[in-house]
Amino acid sequence: MNFRTLMIFLGAPILAAAAVPAHAEWVNRVTDGIMGTRITVELWSEDRSKAEAAIDAVLDEMRHIDESMSTYKPTSEVSLVNDKAADGPMHISKELFDLLVKAKEYSVITDGAFDITYASVGYMYNFPKHIRPNDAQIAKALPAVDYRHVILDPKTQTVRFSQKGVRIDLGGIAKGYSVDCGIDVLKAHGVTRAYVSAGGDSRIIGDRFGKPWMVGIRDPRKGEGEVIASIPLVDAAISTSGDYERFFDEGGVRYHHIIDPHTGHSASKVRSATVIAPTATRTDGLSKTAFVLGPEDALRIYNSLPDVDAVLVTPTGKVLYSKGLQPPEGTPTIRTQ
Ligand code: ADP
Ligand code: MG
Repeated sequence: MNFRTLMIFLGAPILAAAAVPAHAEWVNRVTDGIMGTRITVELWSEDRSKAEAAIDAVLDEMRHIDESMSTYKPTSEVSLVNDKAADGPMHISKELFDLLVKAKEYSVITDGAFDITYASVGYMYNFPKHIRPNDAQIAKALPAVDYRHVILDPKTQTVRFSQKGVRIDLGGIAKGYSVDCGIDVLKAHGVTRAYVSAGGDSRIIGDRFGKPWMVGIRDPRKGEGEVIASIPLVDAAISTSGDYERFFDEGGVRYHHIIDPHTGHSASKVRSATVIAPTATRTDGLSKTAFVLGPEDALRIYNSLPDVDAVLVTPTGKVLYSKGLQPPEGTPTIRTQ
């Protein structure tokens, strides 16, 4: 997705609008509570009961992922891994194994900014309760933060932690993954136009009959309805990470849920980062990077990936765009304030 394809697409709405079939409608459902977040599914359907059944199937899939991957659930597969993988190789499901492989790939791509072992320190934060680890606790736990401690063996489909104290948490990638699984479920039900989101991670298939889906990027220091930009999207995923999602302020410092794996402290080099790419696993895996590395290094990584675009809001409120979203001079189509 780049600016030029968006322009070309925006040029074609009238022709395609004639193709809307009769007796069909947009069916929408919003559900709270799965993965501790809000799930939205919207799809175009010619049969309402089939649409509702497809949405039920998406939500079942998401509940299954939550059961298996949540660290809030002591019986989840990930919690069992955290309990046992330091003792020796542990056989895990193919689904979890594959996602752990992906997570490590994003650690490599992001120079270690994305790291699921952040949880070795991260588990000591409780943002709603304003609890954070002190410097001594961070220093003690920090050596366990390193994605290289997670050793995966594809032959035996096992995971092992190379030392005690290592914990993983998939909170930075599981929502994006669940959105991709939701989209696969909809495709299997024959759906060709849909939007699925889980918290800040969304993916779209198809268009809205000649028009793109418009996804707003929230102003990080204003209310939910206030956007700094609206991005037109077709067949794409988008994730936004923000320092306003789970946080508390103390002594003029904002403590929030994205952790710098190198320091164990909240990573605050941007206020928000939005990533656009073909899948939500990818956008989720990449949206934490700018918080840890800062806008310059993050844009260098995003610009080196041909299928990725990004919009960053810096600590001073400046909005930065990746290469593919920079409007050619004189033709702005991305609305900004
Ligand atoms: P959301 O949970 O709304 O999708 P994000 O995509 O921004 O929000 O992910 C934030 C979550 O990522 C945190 O709550 C935490 O579980 C996890 N996380 C925090 N720091 C890191 C990191 N450095 N690498 C990978 N995951 C992280
Ligand atoms: Mg996310």
